[in-house]
Amino acid sequence: TVIVYDTSERSANEHFDELHTLLQEYHRLYDIYHTYEGLNNLATVNEQAGKASVAVDNRILDLVEYAKQMDTLTDGRMNIVMGRVLDLWLQYREAGLNDPDHATLPPMVELETANADANLENIVIDRAAGTLYLVDEKTQLDVGAIGKGYAGQQITEAMRESGVTSMLLSIGGNVCSIGTRADGTAWQVGIQDPYSDGTLCAVQVSGQSVVTSGTYERFYTVDGKRYHHIIDPETLLPSTYYDSVTVISENSALADALTTGLFCLPLAQGQALVASLDGVEAFWVLPDGTTAQSSGFSAYLVS
Ligand code: ADP
Ligand code: MG
Repeated sequence: TVIVYDTSERSANEHFDELHTLLQEYHRLYDIYHTYEGLNNLATVNEQAGKASVAVDNRILDLVEYAKQMDTLTDGRMNIVMGRVLDLWLQYREAGLNDPDHATLPPMVELETANADANLENIVIDRAAGTLYLVDEKTQLDVGAIGKGYAGQQITEAMRESGVTSMLLSIGGNVCSIGTRADGTAWQVGIQDPYSDGTLCAVQVSGQSVVTSGTYERFYTVDGKRYHHIIDPETLLPSTYYDSVTVISENSALADALTTGLFCLPLAQGQALVASLDGVEAFWVLPDGTTAQSSGFSAYLVS
């Protein structure tokens, strides 16, 4: 969803076309499930793991390089080389959603085997050659935790350079903003209540990004218990610390990486990480329904 206030309808449509084209480009580049004729994307890189380095668009190298930094920043909790572990969860989730009476969990031995080669060092970026190589055939990339935010950030910057001064862009709940609404008031973004269809609260932003990850987004049920889609690299199981985490930052790539990383960090450690970062605020919903927020978060809250 995109809202643009512009000088004319024609200008708005031109900006929209530019934005749409960029979105489609990033979508194809960062797709790990499909390959496209004449394009090397992340699916190609995964396919070629252990076999060959792949010549890719710089936007892929930029994303992977940034994701490696985010892995370090989050103490390994946001990990893009867990592709095989995440794929296992995906397979069991889809089977469980198709046949709920026989839903099962992936066996721990299978998860551990899948995790054995989830090693950051297995990603080789060659800037000079413009290539990406996964040195082990069992190492697979999954950028689900960061791709939307990274693409959103790049596209928002491109729109700013094209002269857009007022925009709200939401890519599947990953919200980026430029400036304010036309009347000068801040953009308002609702934060989903994990336990109902409504919102818990709303924040107002002008130029910042707001990203939320939640257990309610994608999950399946086994023996009456919910298993969601954010997997703690420490346990290889869905993280149990929170029901949602929201991050506000001027950088949507950072916000996206952090929502997933914070999801897998105990609150004190998460609070310390957020406090150490300039211009980053966070809001946590704990499983008992209570909430926590970083020191500057309330400045964004709509009263
Ligand atoms: P969403 O908007 O879907 O909630 P998130 O930013 O929360 O996106 O990322 C969730 C997705 O990231 C999962 O669907 C999966 O592909 C991937 N993922 C899950 N757990 C992790 C993790 N600990 N580190 C990196 N990627 C993860
Ligand atoms: Mg994320």
